[in-house]
Amino acid sequence: MEELVGFCSQCGKPIHCLQGFLNGVISDEKETLYCFSCYEENDNEQNRKRYHIRIKESQRKSP
Ligand SMILES: [Zn+2]
Repeated sequence: MEELVGFCSQCGKPIHCLQGFLNGVISDEKETLYCFSCYEENDNEQNRKRYHIRIKESQRKSP
């Protein structure tokens, strides 16, 4: 059984559900679909952003 779940929001690749195993990733709250390669890229970007936010916050705290 192969069920089409949706399309990757980054590259438009179809995401399927294969016998209960999802051929991609659904991001936490936004219900956005990604294939594995796009999800990894996106995750790295988010980590970078978090890092920058952390730097900004630490600068704000300093007098
Ligand atoms: Zn993709």
